[in-house]
Amino acid sequence: MSTKVTKEEALEYHRVPNPGKVAISTTTRLETQKDLSLAYSPGVAYPCEEIQKNPELAFEYTSKRNLVAVISNGTAVLGLGDIGAIASKPVMEGKSVLFKKFAAVDSFDIEVDEKDIDKFCDIVKAISPTFGGINLEDIKAPECFEIEKRLVEELNIPVMHDDQHGTAIITSAALINASEMMGKKLEDMKVVVVGAGASAIACSTMYKELGIKNLIMCDSKGVIHKDRTDLNKYKKEFITQTDITTMEEAFENADMVLGLSRPGTFTLEHIKLMSEEPIVFTLANPTPELFPEEVRSVKPKAIIGTGRSDYANQVNNVLGFPFIFRGALDVQARKINMPMKMAAAKAIANLAKEPITEELRASFGDLSYGREYIIPIPFDKRLMVEVSSAVANSAVETGVARVKDFNLEEYREKLAS
Ligand code: NAP
Ligand code: MG
Repeated sequence: MSTKVTKEEALEYHRVPNPGKVAISTTTRLETQKDLSLAYSPGVAYPCEEIQKNPELAFEYTSKRNLVAVISNGTAVLGLGDIGAIASKPVMEGKSVLFKKFAAVDSFDIEVDEKDIDKFCDIVKAISPTFGGINLEDIKAPECFEIEKRLVEELNIPVMHDDQHGTAIITSAALINASEMMGKKLEDMKVVVVGAGASAIACSTMYKELGIKNLIMCDSKGVIHKDRTDLNKYKKEFITQTDITTMEEAFENADMVLGLSRPGTFTLEHIKLMSEEPIVFTLANPTPELFPEEVRSVKPKAIIGTGRSDYANQVNNVLGFPFIFRGALDVQARKINMPMKMAAAKAIANLAKEPITEELRASFGDLSYGREYIIPIPFDKRLMVEVSSAVANSAVETGVARVKDFNLEEYREKLAS
């Protein structure tokens, strides 16, 4: 079936059968006068009083334990830029649909018409009691770094900016497997990152954590090196330790390029300079920096990934965020920390090595671990068991989970059922 969509189809999809993509459903019975007295006054006062005495009981008596806020101010929506809060609503509703369909996580999309960092953080903090987790979305760099940092520090529920960390987790999974296929150790690789925005900074932070030592980052002005005087504090973290100052030097014998910029920021001339069997992830959406067939014309052995569903190795954030929040919510985590993100990346990487299920084979053909299949596809139902259990277990191990009686095997069985 074709995955191409027309404008008319897309608008119709959003308008019919009801405007938008989400609605709220209830979970308790409400049939009798007695039910009414339980659901609302006077019965509802009892859980209110219990929660007043111990706020943690909100996880017991309210929907908090399975509820995520998808929050944006509309300043960096898809590749559309700063289109404003209300125009971002279809994307945020879409995210809610994915949360529900892929991982049974309930969510509200919340579009906040506020660009000021202090005010935005105040608003999110003020509404945070409602939620078990907060997915920040499509907030522009560099503001997104400060906003996320503050909210992570000041709230006691998981906060994750998916454009940063979702991307970092999926590209880390892809890197783990691709480097293994190349037979190259992470600490020996030369990696070029083209882009120094929300996703590139987060990916590079995680790559360092994975063991990448030689990482050269480039922004719209070229290589980020020590003589640059125009760098913000986030870019400064990635000043190259080498003497490299040009993109050509950066690409010379590089083992990998991670493109998180826009179309055409590097060319086939740059790819030609790379090692014989390079990893080339061109993730600008919807048009990648270079198309896979172009890359292959100069480096036939390259391992290639894009952000698109019409090519192999799609780096799609939906492989991560629904299951990461599923795991974090289920152990009532206070944070999503680096070990949890690493656990997610490794679980995603490992799943690609498992033979695919019959169900997947029927719809997607014969996929097997190799250059054209380095990460799983979003419809692999095993993602929930593998990724959510890895994240939950890591939360328990690193002491950020509230639940005390966590049993990994039992939890995996519950996820699988
Ligand atoms: P962003 O915060 O706006 O960052 C874009 C970066 O590209 C900026 O650092 C910018 O440099 C840099 N850039 C622009 N022109 C350049 C050039 N000629 N050479 C080198 N760098 C250049 O955007 P983002 O959220 O990180 O996303 C970047 C792209 O990746 C988008 O197309 C997005 O759709 C895509 N993406 C894909 C996935 C996925 O496939 N799963 C996930 C996340 C993002 P300055 O800092 O100098 O302005
Ligand atoms: Mg996004």
